[in-house]
Amino acid sequence: DGTIWRPKNTAEKLEKHLQFTGRSVYTRFPPEPNGYLHIGHAKAMFVSFGLAKERGGYCYLRYDDTNPEAEKQEYIDHIQEIVDWMGWKPFKVTYSSDYFQELYDLAIQLIKKGYAYVDHQTPEEIKSYRESKTDSPWRNRPIAESLKLFEEMRKGMIDEGKATLRMKQDMKSENPNMYDLIAYRIKFTPHPHAGDKWCIYPSYDYTHCIVDSLENITHSLCTLEFEIRRPSYYWLLEALDLYHPHVWEYSRLSITNTVLSKRKLNRLVREKWVDGWDDPRLMTLAGLRRRGYTPDAINAFVRDVGITRSDGSLIRLEKIEHYIREDLNKKSRRVMVVLKPLKVVIKNMEENVVMNLRAKFWPDAADSEESSHYEVPFSRVVYIESSDFRLKDSKDYYGLAPGKTVMLRYAFPIKCVDIIYAEDKSTVLELHAEYDPAKSTKPKGVIHWVSEPSHGILPLKVEVRMFEKLFLSENPSELEDWLADLNPNSKIVIAEALAVPVLKHSCHGDSYQFERLDLSTMLVSQICFGFGWDAQKSYFCVDQDSSADKLVFNRTVSLRDSYVK
Ligand code: ATP
Ligand code: MG
Ligand code: MG
Repeated sequence: DGTIWRPKNTAEKLEKHLQFTGRSVYTRFPPEPNGYLHIGHAKAMFVSFGLAKERGGYCYLRYDDTNPEAEKQEYIDHIQEIVDWMGWKPFKVTYSSDYFQELYDLAIQLIKKGYAYVDHQTPEEIKSYRESKTDSPWRNRPIAESLKLFEEMRKGMIDEGKATLRMKQDMKSENPNMYDLIAYRIKFTPHPHAGDKWCIYPSYDYTHCIVDSLENITHSLCTLEFEIRRPSYYWLLEALDLYHPHVWEYSRLSITNTVLSKRKLNRLVREKWVDGWDDPRLMTLAGLRRRGYTPDAINAFVRDVGITRSDGSLIRLEKIEHYIREDLNKKSRRVMVVLKPLKVVIKNMEENVVMNLRAKFWPDAADSEESSHYEVPFSRVVYIESSDFRLKDSKDYYGLAPGKTVMLRYAFPIKCVDIIYAEDKSTVLELHAEYDPAKSTKPKGVIHWVSEPSHGILPLKVEVRMFEKLFLSENPSELEDWLADLNPNSKIVIAEALAVPVLKHSCHGDSYQFERLDLSTMLVSQICFGFGWDAQKSYFCVDQDSSADKLVFNRTVSLRDSYVK
């Protein structure tokens, strides 16, 4: 039936539409509240909110909530909060379910026009009939019969699975998305937003285009997998004589060594492979936030990835790391934290002397800028990184060794004069050293450290969590057993790292670079439980698990940048 393809009342529809939009751009970001948003949604938001913003237009945040089993209030609340965090301001927040009555009324019109029918085929029958391009036996039943049955569906008089409303599209088409798509199904499930008012729910294909039209969307932007559904989108709006928005598709974003489909994310969370939707190893926006990523870095990343229709949008994880480094380099203060402490007793210092030295939050800080500095106590007992000490010295090694001198950053040179072993005679318990108060020696190696704030008092203890790639393969989604590809060492917890006292006043969300600026030490890559020097040259943020007794830091990203733009 070709008639419905000819646009009808175009001028009249356009006029009505323009009265509403006044020629402005209207877009929508339409997440289904069946999970938390991820980095792919950051791209989708950039496209729709971004276009509206650029053109002085309006973007709706619309919950595309037509599957009550999968959807939850928790997700609805989270989405609104994270959209705000990303810096986007919706013109209005709407729900597809707010239109259930209009959608139902339009379905009755559709039946009356002969463009929909109540069907009784099982999912298997529908599938095999579609494969052979065969009409359902109910396709040509009288309109009155469909109207009566649809009414009974709504009233809950027909069991789940026993009837659907199907659009009478084109069973002979080359496009399987025209094979009488389902418009309504029966589900005796209450809805998180609409409550228990309905027991029939409209499908995505029926709902999306109608709500786009009812909201006078000018540009309906979605990912490429919907392209094949475009004929159905236009078909339904034509059949109902509704204005139709311009639909445009772009490629989906994928990232290496992670999964983004909400079905897979749901499984990781539900089966506790990760610690919730905001696990810092996930590429959910909540996970990235907890990991220390900023909206600025995420938006800069999606902008530079670009909005195209080309496939192969599998972007390297290193690329997004590059953007957060650039951002944090500007925003994060430098401090000293020792991850795996080795005690050093400075023998030529008195027990109860504490010097307050000046250290820099910012590497380029001028001496006169008070707020760019912090105080760090220096006393007889100092802790250095275990990996900064070796029993055997060598030419390209700039750390501490027996008889050797290194510079304690912002403090003094120290020389290792003795080694105290544990009873096993091989474990180094502590070092004895002498410092050079006149700073007459100029050692090449500079190391970070913390010290007892007063005699016998341990420096501030903090917990540090380090994260690695969640999956070992670049494209785990391609694997049959993708869960088997999880990296068993994706999270390492250091329960007792030691920090400079100034960190005590940190708040949830603060970010720091744990500094290690001496480039010469980077030549040495020594491994202490799975991480090397990188660990000391990274950005960290304060985690929400922090308490008054113990701060918890998450490693956002290491300093080394292997990404080439
Ligand atoms: P999933 O398969 O993960 O459930 P979805 O497309 O069903 O994804 P929705 O919440 O319905 O997720 O998506 C809301 C919007 O975000 C849609 O317009 C969708 O096209 C877009 N979107 C989802 N994932 C990506 C992605 N990886 N890259 C770009 N846009 C995406
Ligand atoms: Mg969707
Ligand atoms: Mg989905």
